[in-house]
Amino acid sequence: MPELPEVEITARLLDGALAGARIESARAPGINALKTFDPPLLALQGQRIATVRRRGKHLIVQTAEGLALLIHLMSAGRLQLYDKPAGPRDRTSRLLVGVRAQRHDAGAPSTGGSSAGPGKELELRLREFGSKQAAWVKLLRAGELDRDDSLASLGPEAWPDPPPLAQLLDAPRPLHALLRDQRVIAGIGRSWVDEILWQARLSPYKRGADLDEGEAERLRDAVIETLGGAIAHYEHAIRLPIPDKLPMPLRVHRHQGESCPRCAATLQAVHFEDYVIAYCPACQTEGRVLKDRRLSRLLR
Ligand SMILES: [Zn+2]
Repeated sequence: MPELPEVEITARLLDGALAGARIESARAPGINALKTFDPPLLALQGQRIATVRRRGKHLIVQTAEGLALLIHLMSAGRLQLYDKPAGPRDRTSRLLVGVRAQRHDAGAPSTGGSSAGPGKELELRLREFGSKQAAWVKLLRAGELDRDDSLASLGPEAWPDPPPLAQLLDAPRPLHALLRDQRVIAGIGRSWVDEILWQARLSPYKRGADLDEGEAERLRDAVIETLGGAIAHYEHAIRLPIPDKLPMPLRVHRHQGESCPRCAATLQAVHFEDYVIAYCPACQTEGRVLKDRRLSRLLR
C-alpha cells in the first residue's frame, strides 16, 4: 500500500537512475491506466527525463522538453525499473516506458557534458498487483500540472514540514479520517495513520476540532517522525528495481493481537469493509476497546 514514504523512496531511486535518460518507447497495455489522450504517449519518444519526484502519493516523471507523466499507484501499484523488457506473459504491467540511461562511467571525472556512447537500456514499468485495476497515469504538459484536479485539490505535504495541525485539522471529524483526507494533508493513508496516532498517543476517533495545542503539536511531531523514520528505513532497505513487496516497518498497523511495543498491552483492531484500524487501548483510548459497529458509524 504505497503512501508518502513508499512513493518518496520510489521517486528518489528512480530520479537517481533516470535523470538524463532518453525515452525510446512508451505504451500502456490495456489502455485503461491512461486517463488522458492529448498529448499521446508517443509524444514522449525521444524526450529526456529531467526529474522523478513526488507530490502527495503521486509520482511525477518530467521530461526536459516539458511533458510530465503523473502517476498514482493507488493501493497495489509499483513503479519499477528493470534492465530487461517485460515478457509476453506479463499481465501486471499497465505502463511500459523504454529508456536509454545516460552512461555513467564509474570513477571517471564528470565532464558536465553528454557522455559519448550508448547508455544502458532500461524499462520503467507501472505494475499492479491484485484484482482491481485502479492505478492510473496522465500524460500532461508540465505547465498543466498545477491545474490538474488530482494535484490542485491536495492539501499541504505531510512531510517534511507540515503546517501547524491545530488549524489544519480543525473540523468535527475523527483524526483517523482527517489525516487520510488528501485534501486536508497530503501523503498519509491507511497504514501510516495508525502508526502516527499510536506515536502521538491519540485516539483514532478523537475529533480534530477537539485537539488542544499540546496534542496538535505532539501529533505534528509524530507525523514528521513517523514518515521521516520510514523513509530513512527505506533508504537502507530498498534498492532498484523496487521490490513487489515493500518491507514496511510497521509496529501497530497489521499487528493487532500482539503486544504494544511501548506498554505491552494487547493491540486491538476495528475492521471495516476494506481496511483495519489498529491501536493500543492503553496508550490511545484510556483503556477502552472500541466496538466495530459504533466506530464505523463515527468514522463516516
Ligand atoms: Zn500501548
